[in-house]
Amino acid sequence: MSNSASLSFGVKQSMRFSREFGSGSAGAVSAKCGAGYHDSFKQPKVKGVCDVCGSSDLRRRADDNAESLRQRLMEYYKKTSPLIGYYHHAGKLFSVDGLAEIDDVAKSVARVLDGAKGA
Ligand SMILES: [Zn+2]
Repeated sequence: MSNSASLSFGVKQSMRFSREFGSGSAGAVSAKCGAGYHDSFKQPKVKGVCDVCGSSDLRRRADDNAESLRQRLMEYYKKTSPLIGYYHHAGKLFSVDGLAEIDDVAKSVARVLDGAKGA
């Protein structure tokens, strides 16, 4: 493992959640045509009425999506945190701000990879 290095994308978990789900808000789906809406990102033009088919039967999505994502994230952190410690102690952990603009993230990653090549 001496030639390997780890690249860690720093995205705070809470930020991730709020990006995915808005702040405590939720999505809805038209029961008739399946068009999807979201309280924060995509509301129907007329509240409670589907833009596509005009149905007022907008059903709230079950919250188990949020719960299963939370569990997957927890599992991910449990499995990857020992690696992060390992690479940190070896001085080979590079962190990139994953919430920056896409171009900036790409540049940061490129910079880290260039540095790793030269090492
Ligand atoms: Zn609809």
